[in-house]
Amino acid sequence: MLAILRPYIALYKHYFWQILIGLSLSILTLFASVFLLSLSGWFLASTAFVGVAGLYTFNYMLPAAGVRGAAITRTAARYMERLVDHDTTFKILAYLRTLAFRKILPLSANQLAQYQRADLLNRFIVDIDALDHLYLKLFSPIVTALIIIVMLFVGLSTINLPIALIITIVLTITLLAVPIIFYQAGKQLGVTLAQQQSEYRLLLINYLQGQAELTLFNAQLRYRAKLDELETNWLRNQQRQSTLMALSSAVVLLIVGFLTLLVLWLITQYTLSPLVALFVFVCLASAEILTPIPGAFIFLGQVLTSATRTSAIFNQTPNIKFVKSGKTIDLSSAKLQFKQINFSYPNQPFAILTNFSLTIQAGEHIGLIGKTGCGKSTLLSLINRAWEPNSGNIYFNDTPLNQLDEKTLRQAIAVVPQIITIFSDSLRQNLLIGDQQATDQQLIAVLQQVELDKLLTTQEGLDLPLGQGGRSLSGGEIRRIGIARALLHNSPLILMDEPTESLDQQTEQQIIALIKQTCKDKTLIMVTHRLTHDPLFDRIISL
Ligand code: ATP
Ligand code: MG
Repeated sequence: MLAILRPYIALYKHYFWQILIGLSLSILTLFASVFLLSLSGWFLASTAFVGVAGLYTFNYMLPAAGVRGAAITRTAARYMERLVDHDTTFKILAYLRTLAFRKILPLSANQLAQYQRADLLNRFIVDIDALDHLYLKLFSPIVTALIIIVMLFVGLSTINLPIALIITIVLTITLLAVPIIFYQAGKQLGVTLAQQQSEYRLLLINYLQGQAELTLFNAQLRYRAKLDELETNWLRNQQRQSTLMALSSAVVLLIVGFLTLLVLWLITQYTLSPLVALFVFVCLASAEILTPIPGAFIFLGQVLTSATRTSAIFNQTPNIKFVKSGKTIDLSSAKLQFKQINFSYPNQPFAILTNFSLTIQAGEHIGLIGKTGCGKSTLLSLINRAWEPNSGNIYFNDTPLNQLDEKTLRQAIAVVPQIITIFSDSLRQNLLIGDQQATDQQLIAVLQQVELDKLLTTQEGLDLPLGQGGRSLSGGEIRRIGIARALLHNSPLILMDEPTESLDQQTEQQIIALIKQTCKDKTLIMVTHRLTHDPLFDRIISL
């Protein structure tokens, strides 16, 4: 358990002073609470005692001021403590979120593909959020409670050592034992809850994304029923968790109640003075120290699950590593060589490429054909370094690809993938992906080149929103956006994966003509199923 949490607890050292201030404030708050209750108790008892004993000299000004002082301190310290502790928590969460992003960015697309997107989002949001329990509900209350118990012992032992000892022992045992019991009781529930929350999100996002299809196939209600069932289940478990929480408070109150009775009985054996009230009220006030802790342990299962899921992201190392500062290469033209490439996907029995060698001269246009599943897209992803060959090397202008830093490699290659992503953003931002520095004039010129200038006829111009919630694009238009990006990228090598797939013949002809015209000075490798665009290619390679 500690091993899972250690990396997160280790973070606290970066916020040492802030945590120290938070802890001091929460100790002050609890101390003021205990002091307030016990002082009030003693004060009331004393005044009664004064009346009964018929004494007339009793300084009630000082305790009255003490009560007021403690009440004000308690409120002010509680407020400040919340402020400081939440600030600390938010800083830790912000750090964790940034760290998660920094860890994910260098991972290759195929490493990320093992997560469902909604699940990844869940890890970012829910799991990292759950880790705030660790500090706010576990770490801080336990440390505070331990310190207060020690302080109580020191204070009370000057009055009556045996009773102080009894109070301390009972409180310490309660602090250590009850949470463990409730941790065990709530562990499985916490794991289930974390899973259900993640599953629910996943299902809900699928449901929303697939709504059109679900409606068309009349499957909406069935899918909805699945969602409802999960939700009911999830709610039921939340209810169980709440019951357990209530039970934990009840147990603590019960123990404190018995302790109070015991102390009351014990102290009356020794003495009958207003001090009786002091001890009794200390016991009662200790409920405030202890009640939140077992409840927090019910969440520990959930926190541990979330920590494990978050660590799974943090502990991934990129399987494709780029050198920091690679060789500089000539980017005016592109010659590509494959030498003795062997490649198979991990855990797959068959090889995709065996002893594959090929030289593509600068400026050559290559058509890559082969039956489905033979490895055409795979070959392109080897050039992109989305995957690494098992043996053999690929050379770009005589430099091995793995000696180029990532920036140079990306600059050298433009890709028009099989599925082109349109981001929910303006037309401008969608194009700038190809080249961040491009001016509006350049964007307009490229749009004209790919015959998409009709998108500019609206009032919004380049600000036209695309993607979800924006202007919808046809299949042909999406391809053109992909080609426009590749053109803007202005690299000597262009890779295209079936850029005309699923287009009608006329659009296909247009796109081919467009590619032919715009790629004439570049090296082009195009995966294709149809050979209708023969004249485009200098050479056809069949895999
Ligand atoms: P298509 O013409 O249908 O696009 P392709 O020639 O592009 O086919 P690839 O996508 O390169 O085929 O896939 C080659 C083979 O590798 C296929 O059998 C595919 O199932 C398998 N494959 C692809 N990606 C992975 C992966 N990430 N893990 C394991 N196997 C994979
Ligand atoms: Mg393919």
